[in-house]
Amino acid sequence: MNHKLLIPALCAAFILGVAFSAAAVDFPTPVIKEWKVQEKNDKGKMEDVDYMSIDGILVHEEDPAKQPQPTVITPGTASTPAQPGMPPSDAVVLFDGKDLSNWTDTQGKETKWILKDGVMSPTKNSGMIRSKQEFGSCQLHVEFACPTPPEGEGQGRGNSGVFLMGRYEVQVLDSYENKTYPDGQCGALYGRSKPLVNACRKPGEWQSYDIIFHRPVFDKDGGVTRRATFTVLQNGVVVQDHVEMSGGNGWRGKHSITNYEAHGDKGPIELQDHGNPVIFRNVWVRELAD
Ligand code: MG
Repeated sequence: MNHKLLIPALCAAFILGVAFSAAAVDFPTPVIKEWKVQEKNDKGKMEDVDYMSIDGILVHEEDPAKQPQPTVITPGTASTPAQPGMPPSDAVVLFDGKDLSNWTDTQGKETKWILKDGVMSPTKNSGMIRSKQEFGSCQLHVEFACPTPPEGEGQGRGNSGVFLMGRYEVQVLDSYENKTYPDGQCGALYGRSKPLVNACRKPGEWQSYDIIFHRPVFDKDGGVTRRATFTVLQNGVVVQDHVEMSGGNGWRGKHSITNYEAHGDKGPIELQDHGNPVIFRNVWVRELAD
């Protein structure tokens, strides 16, 4: 290039580069406003101070009428192999080892699951156990242990499941040195999303799920306007990271699962009877805003 043209060309490239790097994505929400206010500084001089609001609330607002303090709760305690921990003070406790009064079978009748030594488990042909109370978006804590010594293999070893709204399954399986299809192993959103890692403990050892679930939303014609999302921690390890479910996940055939079907805003928590005596303890829920 003629070097008389080189400098203008470089200038143009620089200006274009700045323009493109400054082009920000325009998010419609939250609504962010910025302005300046003339205020006296420590030395008594007037100066411009930057102000900013997010959805109408000033950044670092201290007026509780405009920015209320978060509710104070008492957090729970961690479980040990010998003893379940305490739930947080604002949790709805569904099972604390004392009774099955918060549960029925899937027909609303008395459950055939048994309570023994502070843990609950399915019995032969007992079917799923269902919480009486229903939930939409929520944080759910469940602890489980797969049978030891292990029996069966693949999907037949330590199979159960935690169902949100009675329909979206986080798989429970003895996946400790037990191979199956990845989207059906422990920690999977059955058929939709395999876990990021296999974080399973040995059969007989207590494991935990901490599930953050946001329900799907449907329009009046039954179409999905917002898909369900799952974040799942198994034994404190993230195995599903804000996964948006592309549909339902009921078993429909060897290589297919159900799609979304419109349903209400709330549904029960269900634990699966898959013919294996998986045991459960310390089940609690905290409702979340949609
Ligand atoms: Mg299952």
